Amino acid sequence: MSTVAGIAVSPDHWIGGRRVASGERFEDRSPIDERLLAEVARAGEAEIDMAVAAAAEAFPAWAALGPAGRGPYLRRLADLIDANVHRLATVECLDMAMLERSLRARVISRGARNYRSYADLAEAYEERAWHSNTTDNRVVRMPAGPAAVITPWNAPFMLSTWKTAPALAAGCTVVLKPAEWSPLSCSILADLTAEAGFPPGVFNVVQGIGEEAGAALVSHPRVRRVSFTGSPETGRLIGRAAAANIVPFTAELGGKGPLLVFADADIEAAAAKAAGQYDDAGQVCLAGTRLLVEESIRDDFLERFHRHTDAHVLGDPRDDRTTVSPLIHRDHLARVEGFVERARENGDRIVRGGAQPDIGGLFYEPTLVEPRSNESEIVQREVFGPVLTFQTFASEEEGIALANSTPYGLSAIVYTGARERAERVGRAVRAGTVWVNTFLVRDLTAPFGGMGISGVGREGGEYALDFMSDLKMLQIQEGTTG
Ligand code: NAD
Repeated sequence: MSTVAGIAVSPDHWIGGRRVASGERFEDRSPIDERLLAEVARAGEAEIDMAVAAAAEAFPAWAALGPAGRGPYLRRLADLIDANVHRLATVECLDMAMLERSLRARVISRGARNYRSYADLAEAYEERAWHSNTTDNRVVRMPAGPAAVITPWNAPFMLSTWKTAPALAAGCTVVLKPAEWSPLSCSILADLTAEAGFPPGVFNVVQGIGEEAGAALVSHPRVRRVSFTGSPETGRLIGRAAAANIVPFTAELGGKGPLLVFADADIEAAAAKAAGQYDDAGQVCLAGTRLLVEESIRDDFLERFHRHTDAHVLGDPRDDRTTVSPLIHRDHLARVEGFVERARENGDRIVRGGAQPDIGGLFYEPTLVEPRSNESEIVQREVFGPVLTFQTFASEEEGIALANSTPYGLSAIVYTGARERAERVGRAVRAGTVWVNTFLVRDLTAPFGGMGISGVGREGGEYALDFMSDLKMLQIQEGTTG
């Protein structure tokens, strides 16, 4: 057992309802001060095989419970998450440096909402039924089987609940592999499933390195669904592995979202929201990292944007005054630095930031880059750090064209005061989610996913329940049954 800020967290796997260790371990360090938090079990093929076997064994009974039988488990788990917000927020903050006050106020409890909401949705499902010619017809959802769930480091608890909730509600059993840079909150989640009375093998957590444990999991022949969130590079590998076994997969991948500001918008609100894209050190897939501003308001917008950005406080994520935390890992900091260095060499203009601040640690200054051209790497590739680009446009058409000019298509933010423009631009921008005059508002029943290299498939609401099910067509010849 490891102890993190006085909280006991198991560094081992959770397989078949018990803790399982591995011969090898990897180090998990806090981004706050790089102190060692835990030596975490490092799964190889044997542990993955054990976890998938446990999930396969538990599957028939879990599937047979039906939505009404499974609902109470999910709701008990949700209640336990709510009762453990403090513990989960403390560990998650130390493990990946998200602001502790956000974790306490909303991020952890969103995990509870995920389980409650999917329990409700699965129970409320009405089979499509109709009569045609000579048969009574029904569309029946059958639970798909053991599901592999792989999550990234940037919102490990929330994303793991977002993906495992529909799987469990639909009747799948789960093997979850969290990211190796922030593995701890999912270990607590495993304990809570035990406390909620989940039968052994329904929910399994295997810790390990992506190329080892992750690769073994997604290519395991007994896995019937793969649900992945992470980078497009890994998404390609996972898609290939799933295709080899003819297994459906969803991939929620990276983003390079535009934040479009039209001259008719509330410029102050838009500038404040733009500066807010540095929150969580920009390690947010949905962030609007490309600021696209109508030429006529350039100076006004920039003046306000700089004022809001100047107000950011870089510091310890446990401190309530902090607004920008350290980056997740020294390797990730080097990656962010590499992007900005290459931008400099390319002749892009660093408008602000562009260096590590003088406070030590894994921080990077909120950075704004005015690219030499729209083809610059800093515009075309996801940095996943506190780095935004700034470009202007002269017309709505040009703004839309710039918004749609990268291979990504996860999300977009539009600021305009005109309803018709909101509709027009909102429909024309190629992104899975478009927010107009707002950001990060999420309806759990809405479809969520990316276009282009931002992903394949849709999560959220019925979409995720359908994905975790095999849809069956049942036809009964009329007049042949009593
Ligand atoms: P990553 O792709 O490096 O890793 C994600 C997960 O995949 C980790 O658990 C990792 O261990 C595992 N993995 C790595 N190689 C693997 C392989 N060969 N086979 C199986 N699993 C493997 O991504 P990351 O750096 O952890 O996360 C950041 C990325 O995630 C960014 O691109 C970000 O935009 C994206 N993201 C997307 C969303 C979304 O909803 N679309 C949400 C959060 C993060």
